[in-house]
Amino acid sequence: MHVCIVGAGVIGTTTAWQLARQGMKVTLLEAGDGPGLGTSYANGGQLSYSYVAPLADPSVLPSLPKWLLDRRSPLRFRPRMDVHQWRWCLRFLRNCDGTTAKRTTAAMLTLSYLSRDTLHRWMDETPLEFHHRSNGKLIAYRSPELLEKARKLVEYQAGHGAQQKVLSRAESIDLEPSLAGLDTALAGCIYTPGEEVGDCYLFTKALYDALAKHPQVTIRNQAQVSRLVQREGRIVAAEFADGGQIEADQFILANGLGARKLLRQQGGNAMIYGLKGYSLSVPRTQGTEAAAPEISVTDYERRIVYAPIGPVLRIAAMVDIGGDPGAPNPQRIGQLKNQVKETFPGLAVDEAVGWSGERPATPDSKPVIGRSEAADNLWLNIGHGALGFTLACGSAALLGAQLQGDRAPIDPRPFAER
Ligand SMILES: Cc1cc2nc3c(=O)[nH]c(=O)nc-3n(C[C@H](O)[C@H](O)[C@H](O)COP(=O)(O)OP(=O)(O)OC[C@H]3O[C@@H](n4cnc5c(N)ncnc54)[C@H](O)[C@@H]3O)c2cc1C
Repeated sequence: MHVCIVGAGVIGTTTAWQLARQGMKVTLLEAGDGPGLGTSYANGGQLSYSYVAPLADPSVLPSLPKWLLDRRSPLRFRPRMDVHQWRWCLRFLRNCDGTTAKRTTAAMLTLSYLSRDTLHRWMDETPLEFHHRSNGKLIAYRSPELLEKARKLVEYQAGHGAQQKVLSRAESIDLEPSLAGLDTALAGCIYTPGEEVGDCYLFTKALYDALAKHPQVTIRNQAQVSRLVQREGRIVAAEFADGGQIEADQFILANGLGARKLLRQQGGNAMIYGLKGYSLSVPRTQGTEAAAPEISVTDYERRIVYAPIGPVLRIAAMVDIGGDPGAPNPQRIGQLKNQVKETFPGLAVDEAVGWSGERPATPDSKPVIGRSEAADNLWLNIGHGALGFTLACGSAALLGAQLQGDRAPIDPRPFAER
C-alpha cells in the first residue's frame, strides 16, 4: 500500500515513521525547507502524559473577564471579522462543562499513555538524540484554594492510572531548590515523577533523517500541496501549484492548520483554529544552573511552563486568540521575560531567544485521528493543539492500526472527525 502524507511537523513525521515500520510505502510531502520548522519548532518541549485536561473547562468561564481585560493575562482574545473564529469560540464555550471535560480527560489519557509507550518502544529500537529526559514535573500553585482543587483532580486521575503527589511549600522547595525564589507566594505543588521532556524539533529531525534512509520512503521538501484531486469519491493525487502530482492509494492530512484549506476544497470543515503561543530559550550557562529548575515546572496561575532541554531552559506560555499569526509580538515577549524574571530571578533571561507558533487547536482539545468523511481513502491526523509533541507517537500508532484495518490499540471513537 502506498500512502501519501501531507506535512512533516512532529505529527506527519511520526505518522510516516509508524507506517514505514508497518511495511507500507510512504511519500512524505513538506511545504517548508525541512521537517519540524512550523509549530513543532521551539515548543515547550514537555511530554506531559498526565496533564492532558482540555483547555475548555468550567474554571475558564469565571476567569474569562479577567483574562480578557488584563493585558498581562496568559489568554488574550482579539475579535476578528471571521465567522470561523466565532464558530470555534462558541463551540469552545459549549465544551466548558464539567462532564465533557472529565470525559475528554479520560480519552486523552488513553492516547497520552499510548504515546508514551510507543515513544519508548521506538527509542529502544532506534537511537534518537533529542535531549530526552525523564525528569518529572511540578505544577506550582500560588493559591491554596487552587491547590485544594488540584488535589481533587489528582484523586480523579489516579483512577485513570496517573501517579501524582501533593507537596507542601517546604517539600516542593526541597525537591526543586530553584523554587525558593517564590518564597511565601508558593502554596505547594503537584508532583508527577513520570513526566518527560525533549526537543520536539530535534526529535522530528531525527526521525526524518532516519526516514530519508529508508528504502520504502520518499521525502520531498518545498513540496506544498495546493489541492487533492478527487475522482468518484476517492483521492487519486496530491497536486502542487505547478500542476505536478503524486499518486497514492491512501492520503493523510497531517499538516496542522494547513489541513483546513485542503479539507474545505473536498467539502469538509475542520474545526481547527490557530492559538498563538510564545516561547523563550534561555541558555543554561555556567553560573546560572542553580537558578534554573531541573524538574519541569508549570507556574499554574500564570500558565507558564519551564523545561530543561539540553543546553537551554525552554519556557512557553500564552494563548492569543485572533492575534497576528506572523512573527512574535515584541510586547508579549517582553511581558513573558518580566514574568520569568519575577519567578526565577537568576536566569539569563536577557539572552533568551524568543519564538512564537500557532497551536492547531480543536474546540474540545481532542485531536482528529481517523478516516475523513470527505473521501473513502482520506485520513486525518490533525488538531493536536497544545499537546502535539506529547500525543504524536500515540496518534501515529492509532492511525496506523486503523489504516491497516487492525484492532485499534485504544478506543478511536473520541478522536473521530466531528
Ligand atoms: C508556545 C507553544 C508551546 C507548546 N508546548 C508544547 C509542549 O510543551 N508539549 C506538547 O506536547 N506540545 C506543545 N505545543 C503544541 C505542539 O507544538 C503542536 O501541537 C505540534 O507542533 C503540532 O504539530 P503538527 O505537525 O500538527 O503541526 P506543524 O508542526 O505546524 O507541522 C505542519 C507541517 O505541515 C506543513 N504544511 C502545511 N500545509 C502544507 C501543505 N499544503 N503541503 C505540504 N506541507 C504543508 C507545514 O509547513 C508544517 O511543517 C506547543 C505549541 C506552542 C505554540
